[in-house]
Amino acid sequence: MPGNLRRRATVQPAMPVPAVSYAASPAEKAFADHEILDRFYGHLPPVARRTPMRELISTVLSHRTTHADEELAYDRMLEAFGDWPGVLGAPVDDLIYAIRTTRWPATQAPRIQEILRRVRAETNGSFDLDFLASWPTERAMTWLTDMPGIGLKTASLLLLFSYHHPVLPVDAHVHRVAQRVGFLGPKVSVEKAHAVLLALLRPPLDAEGLFNFHKHNYWHGQQICFFLHPNCPRCPLKGFCQYYQEHFGEATPEALAATPAAWDAAAWGKLPH
Ligand code: SF4
Repeated sequence: MPGNLRRRATVQPAMPVPAVSYAASPAEKAFADHEILDRFYGHLPPVARRTPMRELISTVLSHRTTHADEELAYDRMLEAFGDWPGVLGAPVDDLIYAIRTTRWPATQAPRIQEILRRVRAETNGSFDLDFLASWPTERAMTWLTDMPGIGLKTASLLLLFSYHHPVLPVDAHVHRVAQRVGFLGPKVSVEKAHAVLLALLRPPLDAEGLFNFHKHNYWHGQQICFFLHPNCPRCPLKGFCQYYQEHFGEATPEALAATPAAWDAAAWGKLPH
């Protein structure tokens, strides 16, 4: 079958009309967003994407750095120094050179060594973060965010992805979608949005629900609700999205009927990790 015919054949039937309106409360919109994107992108089991230490250190390296450059820096660092004690004991200039593909290697290298120093002290040199699984969420969050370069997003990613603590990481994509749909105020910062969105969603969402909320809204911001020129025709949230209403008016039955029911990986590409 020619490629274009195969691609057309995989497009899903139209979305059902969302149950909430443009005037719905922030909590109603947040739950509608969660339920609709859960079906659109598919429900995911809450699995860690990488080991806890890698999650911790990689998110420091990833600050304003592409995923490819972050991975390159991480691999070069461990190739050069072998293991965490090696990275901790390395001359700082050598570490700066190893992670040179990141945006601010001269800032990140001493931060990484300070983080490793604290992890070593807490774990008696094992560098095994699994003790965080049994710590109360608030204590674990405080311990992590007290480290240089570790903000709420990094700490939440580690605690949710690796240890299933009920927290919600908010990055620029999640933040943008929440503000455009209208369940987060226009002046709420990314940092403050962690607590605001968590208060909206919990309860009843548990760690698995929060994991899916994060992943789906992250994908949505990255793949459909772009910073410039959001792809609203493809978006299943248009029936209650404030941005859509302000720019295009209320979605017509025809616009809703033309909205795909699910992410079409064959036509639009595989979703990232
Ligand atoms: S309708 Fe448009 S602005 Fe609203 S969430 Fe979807 S893509 Fe973003």
